Amino acid sequence: MGKCTFKGGVHPFDGKEFSKDKPIKELFPEGDMVYPLSQHIGAPAVPVVAKGDYVLAGQLIAEAGGFVSANIHSSVSGTVKAIEPRTLATGGKCNSIVIENDGEFKEVEYVAKKLEELSRDEIRERIKAAGVVGMGGAGFPTNVKLTPKNPESIDYIIVNGAECEPYLTSDYRRMLEEPDKIVMGLKVALSLFDHAKGYIGIEDNKPEAIKIMQEAVSGEPNIEVKVLKTKYPQGGERSLIYATTGRSINSSMLPADAGCIVHNIDTIFSIYMAVIEGKPLTKRIITVTGDGVKEPGNFYVWLGMNYRQLLDAAGGPVGEPEKFISGGPMMGFAMYSLDVPVVKGSSSLLVFQKDEVSKAEESACIRCGRCGEACPSNLLPGRLADFASRNDEESFVAFDGMECVMCGSCSYVCPAKKPLTQQIKAMRSTVLANRRKK
Ligand code: SF4
Ligand code: SF4
Repeated sequence: MGKCTFKGGVHPFDGKEFSKDKPIKELFPEGDMVYPLSQHIGAPAVPVVAKGDYVLAGQLIAEAGGFVSANIHSSVSGTVKAIEPRTLATGGKCNSIVIENDGEFKEVEYVAKKLEELSRDEIRERIKAAGVVGMGGAGFPTNVKLTPKNPESIDYIIVNGAECEPYLTSDYRRMLEEPDKIVMGLKVALSLFDHAKGYIGIEDNKPEAIKIMQEAVSGEPNIEVKVLKTKYPQGGERSLIYATTGRSINSSMLPADAGCIVHNIDTIFSIYMAVIEGKPLTKRIITVTGDGVKEPGNFYVWLGMNYRQLLDAAGGPVGEPEKFISGGPMMGFAMYSLDVPVVKGSSSLLVFQKDEVSKAEESACIRCGRCGEACPSNLLPGRLADFASRNDEESFVAFDGMECVMCGSCSYVCPAKKPLTQQIKAMRSTVLANRRKK
């Protein structure tokens, strides 16, 4: 059978060799821990602790501030030192709970359950209580995603094991090291729907993960591993849905409108932890890699700890690195300080000795058409960027600029080194802001 794929896309240097064979290593945090109240899409969480309170690891410290919001738990035991604005990896500030870690890691008692013991409402409640959100970066509350308007229309729950961003290997290691928990997390999600089928999509450059996951689902008639062609952005929500089910969505639709729900690997793992083990989301895997660190690796990290500790855990920098990126090199963002906390949506710290991208000199468009060929959304990125530079909102929208998924493929292939994605992204934000004003 042919491998699943989509139109367009690119093949960047994958850089996964640095860390793909490094088993996940647990990293114990030191010093103060910082928990921003907005680590998710939706209303900020509301503190339920005050300065001076002693808390245990796993204890609720801020509760969801609305239907679309998420609980936040302390990952360590210690004393609440402050509730104050702190800087995030993005450079913005957010009100945060600061906890002085006592280094004892005393935990609350967790209540484990068997799936058969739980009703659908109880399952959703356990996911909500645990503060699980989409951990691929979006941060959408998972219990809300698992409560669509028409649950009977959900045909597929797709687990995103593509990990198509170069350099990242955390999902890969999770699949190799804890396949049964991923399958159990998917079974929990499937149990919420009457006839949904489970797919786990994995790119064909990860044969060990494909083999292990195929073995893990061998006794599960309702779950299948879908082998995907290796191509960026195979793990983008639209690309993945199309590749695995043949269904298409656009910017005005949710995956649920096409009968699909997509979860990233760490999210499905967190669903397992929340529902079966009764544990809140307080840790995640982070890949620390690139030619700017001495010992790249994959680390099991307590949320709230400082990024600088991640760099130390990876042996420290090589020389004086020029670039730090949070997330992948295609869709991530440059970091200007490492004194910021790891949050639910953090996925990696990339460290590079040279900043080739910002040094590249832009030249005039040569009308080669490569940006259009690479675009998974079938757009004309060169023209869209042109409209953006002239602030021509009407033409931008008429040429489907709002369908851009900001994957970065067009910028990657452009021989003129034009910052196409940045220009299109900025124009999209302007259009959305103007629509909100109306
Ligand atoms: S226009 Fe948008 S969707 Fe198309 S390649 Fe560029 S960033 Fe990706
Ligand atoms: S890839 Fe770059 S040079 Fe080629 S058409 Fe697109 S914008 Fe122009």
